[in-house]
Amino acid sequence: MNIIVLGPPGSGKGTQAKKIAQHFGLNHVSTGELLRLEAEKDTPKAKEILSYQKKGVLVPLEIVLEVTLPSLQASPSGFVLDGTPRNFQQAQRLNDFLAQKNIQIDRVILLELSDEEAISRLLKRAKLEGRSDDNEVTIRERFRVYHDDTEPVIALYEKQGKLLRIDGRPDIETIFQDILKKLTQS
Ligand code: AMP
Repeated sequence: MNIIVLGPPGSGKGTQAKKIAQHFGLNHVSTGELLRLEAEKDTPKAKEILSYQKKGVLVPLEIVLEVTLPSLQASPSGFVLDGTPRNFQQAQRLNDFLAQKNIQIDRVILLELSDEEAISRLLKRAKLEGRSDDNEVTIRERFRVYHDDTEPVIALYEKQGKLLRIDGRPDIETIFQDILKKLTQS
């Protein structure tokens, strides 16, 4: 089974993607995490990645593909892809790559949360985890990118009948049980 998890910043994508992967024995592939790992290195590419993440804008396409696609290919029992695609271009390139490898996306899970609720969660996370992109200016930019670039991609998956809309407001376990129910129903 291959699943994509999308949602606004602060919707709990990473947490739920991890739980889904663990439950079904799938590979959790988080582009944001992979980029953060790459950004810790002492290389020009690391500095480039960090400069985009700090501003809350999308990292260039080729870097995103370079860190993400090999992990998808190395997922024999399937993957939970967390945070990609974020725009049409990424969706197109991801689709081409998967088609070439004869891999299907089965379901796209969308965690739904209002901007206000998501922002309040992010500000809490900023205190706990100290992620450099969890500050007010960057958060605002990440929401702009989500609404302008990522939401149109979600519409595309909805047209394909792959989208599962999940209420992102309850606690972690309630959301997870809802995801399991909807995945097994569909
Ligand atoms: P996330 O961990 O998904 O919240 O992503 C944090 C940051 O990493 C984003 O604001 C982007 O700068 C970068 N990022 C994560 N995923 C992608 C992606 N698919 N395309 C471009 N940039 C990404």
